[in-house]
Amino acid sequence: MNTFKIKFGIGLIILLGVYLVSQGIYRRNIAVLHTYTNDSIDIAEHMHTAEIFHSAMHEMLISASRYHDTRDEAFEEQYRKQAESADNALQKLKYHGGHAAVVDNNWGSDRDVINIITEYFALFRKSIADNVFSRPDKKKADLTEAHSLFDEIFQNYYLELHRHHSARLVALQAKAHDIEARMNVYFVAQFVFALVIGIAVLFYFDRAVLKLYAVTEQLSIKDALTSLYNRRYLEKYFDGEVARSLRYGHLLSVAMIDIDDFKKYNDSHGHQAGDKLLKDVSLILAGNARGIDRVIRYGGEEFLIVFPETGKSTAITAAERIRRGIEEHTFILPNKKQGPSVTVSIGVASFPDEGSTAGEVVKKADEMLYLAKNAGKNIVKTEQLQDEPRAHRLV
Ligand code: GH3
Ligand code: MG
Ligand code: MG
Repeated sequence: MNTFKIKFGIGLIILLGVYLVSQGIYRRNIAVLHTYTNDSIDIAEHMHTAEIFHSAMHEMLISASRYHDTRDEAFEEQYRKQAESADNALQKLKYHGGHAAVVDNNWGSDRDVINIITEYFALFRKSIADNVFSRPDKKKADLTEAHSLFDEIFQNYYLELHRHHSARLVALQAKAHDIEARMNVYFVAQFVFALVIGIAVLFYFDRAVLKLYAVTEQLSIKDALTSLYNRRYLEKYFDGEVARSLRYGHLLSVAMIDIDDFKKYNDSHGHQAGDKLLKDVSLILAGNARGIDRVIRYGGEEFLIVFPETGKSTAITAAERIRRGIEEHTFILPNKKQGPSVTVSIGVASFPDEGSTAGEVVKKADEMLYLAKNAGKNIVKTEQLQDEPRAHRLV
């Protein structure tokens, strides 16, 4: 029972441990995936802002060029709006780049690139302001420098920034893919584990049920106080035992044992002392029984011993040994003091002479016990020896 409990407990602890660890792994991977998703969104936003910046700069060049060609102030106004849009985009790139903006690259962080772009952008604007808008003379207006600055920003820095972002997105995608692959492995491992546990449970289930059944059965036929068999056991097995003896013509005897004046003992020394006496008497009865004998707590202070394969005279000898053993035993009270002497009366009956069923034999033993009590207690009584009441004390 104990090893079964321990194995069961260890199994449960292992299951719980595996469950918690796999939950932890899932939880962690979900958190990592969440970070990857946020990173990807940041990078995509950053790339989009960079595109806005780039196209606004391009529009600035076009507006400046049209102003240069037409001197129409509407183009100057258009230029101003595009410059504002480019400026906003640049600010956004600087301060809302999230993780993407601070990632280190081989030659410096994205933030460094953005700072360089900012410087070039200022030069770009200054060049347009100086060479286009501040020159009333159309012929002297010149966008060459602005064009080359635009190209410089675009070729050297903007594209570089774009490449970094793309590379980072690809890396994030690969990492997310890795996690998915790992989770698939975990899933398969968990599935296999569950399968193994399932098979083990199926395999051991019947054994566990049988064991539990045996344990429950054992508990239901044992008396809690004395650990002897109880009356349920008698009802369950005794009929079968007698039927078997009848079938094979075997002998079988029973002894009904009752503690004398137990009520007085209880009254004088307390219920607890009474319980202790019941346990001590049980030990003596069990100690006197052979392996095949069955000692049963029949009632409060009444016990029944079943002696299979035993004729009446052997049963009487055994009963007498028990009677004398108890009479001579020194019982100790719960307070460790020596108690008064205790005696028992015993009625013996045998199958098939005194009954053809279990019930009849036990009833006969009970009648003999009654006679023993009437004859003055502390004796063994049986049918044939009725006229010699105390003869068996000497057996
Ligand atoms: P007799 O010699 O005629 O057998 O008299 P007795 O006093 O032994 O028998 P009686 O039937 O008058 O009293 C039995 C007592 O046993 C009464 C009851 O309180 C007590 N008893 C029954 N079961 C238990 C038990 O489990 N523990 C204790 N301490 N006492 C019990
Ligand atoms: Mg009694
Ligand atoms: Mg009694």
